[in-house]
Amino acid sequence: MRYQELSHWLSTVDDPLTPLPALPGDADADVVIVGAGYTGLWTAYYLAVADPTLRIVVLEAEIAGYGASGRNGGWCSALLPTSLPALARRHGRAQALAMQRAMRDTVTEVGRVAATEGIDCDWQHGGTVLLARTDVQLGRARAAVDEARDHGLDPDDLVLLDAAGAAARCAAEGVRGGTYTPHCAAVHPAKLVRGLARAVRRHGVTLYERSPVTAIRPGAAVTPHGTVRAAVVVRATEAYTPMLPGHRRTVVPVYSLMVATEPLSEATWQRIGLADRETFSDYRHLIVYGQRTGDGRLAFGGRGAPYHFGSRVSPDHDREPRVFAALRRTLGELFPVLGPDVPVARAWGGPLGVARDWSASVGLDRSSGLGWAGGYVGDGVGTSNLAGRTLADLIRGVESELTALPWVGHRSPRWEPEPLRWLAINAGLRVMSSADGAEHRTGRPARRATTFAHLLGH
Ligand SMILES: Cc1cc2nc3c(=O)[nH]c(=O)nc-3n(C[C@H](O)[C@H](O)[C@H](O)COP(=O)(O)OP(=O)(O)OC[C@H]3O[C@@H](n4cnc5c(N)ncnc54)[C@H](O)[C@@H]3O)c2cc1C
Repeated sequence: MRYQELSHWLSTVDDPLTPLPALPGDADADVVIVGAGYTGLWTAYYLAVADPTLRIVVLEAEIAGYGASGRNGGWCSALLPTSLPALARRHGRAQALAMQRAMRDTVTEVGRVAATEGIDCDWQHGGTVLLARTDVQLGRARAAVDEARDHGLDPDDLVLLDAAGAAARCAAEGVRGGTYTPHCAAVHPAKLVRGLARAVRRHGVTLYERSPVTAIRPGAAVTPHGTVRAAVVVRATEAYTPMLPGHRRTVVPVYSLMVATEPLSEATWQRIGLADRETFSDYRHLIVYGQRTGDGRLAFGGRGAPYHFGSRVSPDHDREPRVFAALRRTLGELFPVLGPDVPVARAWGGPLGVARDWSASVGLDRSSGLGWAGGYVGDGVGTSNLAGRTLADLIRGVESELTALPWVGHRSPRWEPEPLRWLAINAGLRVMSSADGAEHRTGRPARRATTFAHLLGH
């Protein structure tokens, strides 16, 4: 496989992406981590820094960054898949706010480690602008700010923008207003994950690539090449989790797809803005997200690709011409300056993991020594760092502010058996995208989409 072809990001890292040697046979360790995306690597990183005597092994089926970590939109944000009100309902206001503050600090922490470890990942802490381009979207922007204030966030966290304020950051067509938060950095995701893999190895962690784990059980991770025995086994496999025995219904893989333009001229950037490389989106239902890349392109993505029966994950699902065409069309609508033929250089996709209650979680079962983190939906770039720090504390038996956060030890319910998953998820995706069209036509909020989001517990 040519790993470079998996994403624009993997094709632009200064790295031949040659796999490291596979696990040579049976081995012993203190901690074995399955999966070398951000979750597995951050966990290894903080463990190794905290206790350099620990023998830590990471087993990766392909290469570090093969999964979503090498393909995502590069928003290192303070977002969580569970909204602040939903967290407050479940865990109380104080705990919800503590979680939000921990996420805010996480953005700074990722930037700090990148600088300390010399990981050049085109880091720019420029915040996020969310645009409102219709009255309905403007209503959602106001509601988001009211909700944030009600739950203890202040204007330093989220501020409402009028039309001029929003356009000054991102001059998309027809901008009526929006919101801005400083708690996000734009990153080159593959430079981050590949740099992190190099950093953990410098800190003494052993990383085996092309070493797929076929079973995880207390005390062992089994591969066709041999078994690694360790008191603690961490599952960091996100969207690929359903392929592990016993985990078919733990999360569902949902595909997100992206396009990247050719580098744009300075004159075009003058018209678009994003001068501080703010990440950007708008208040439609079916999520879209974009960033101005370090090398002057627009990288833009969205959902809308179908869920595949039986939670199947396959490279065939990374490409969906219909969704690529829609992304290109949406980019052209947002930025007519790109012209009728938006100059797309590359298109790709990848799977992310969604838990039944849309709640990310992290934990360690002391009796079995099995640890896990994931279910981040589309918000894992920052959240995986918080998960890694938390797992490092849990594994070393350290009680900390992090281990007291409400997502620690949370167990999401399992997804329904097929064909219910397939029917419900694909119906939901269709409702959300048709709701955006209906809102655009009628100027009224589409209630069916909101109802569906509530049914999913989002
Ligand atoms: C197109 C796209 C855009 C996104 N945009 C954003 C964004 O802008 N901001 C954001 O916060 N989040 C975003 N996300 C989500 C984010 O990328 C993920 O939440 C995050 O990368 C998850 O990291 P992870 O390490 O848990 O999983 P992954 O990066 O998927 O890593 C899992 C690793 O485990 C390996 N593996 C799986 N099974 C096994 C096994 N049995 N044995 C050995 N190895 C195994 C895989 O090969 C893979 O390398 C996006 C995701 C996608 C797909």
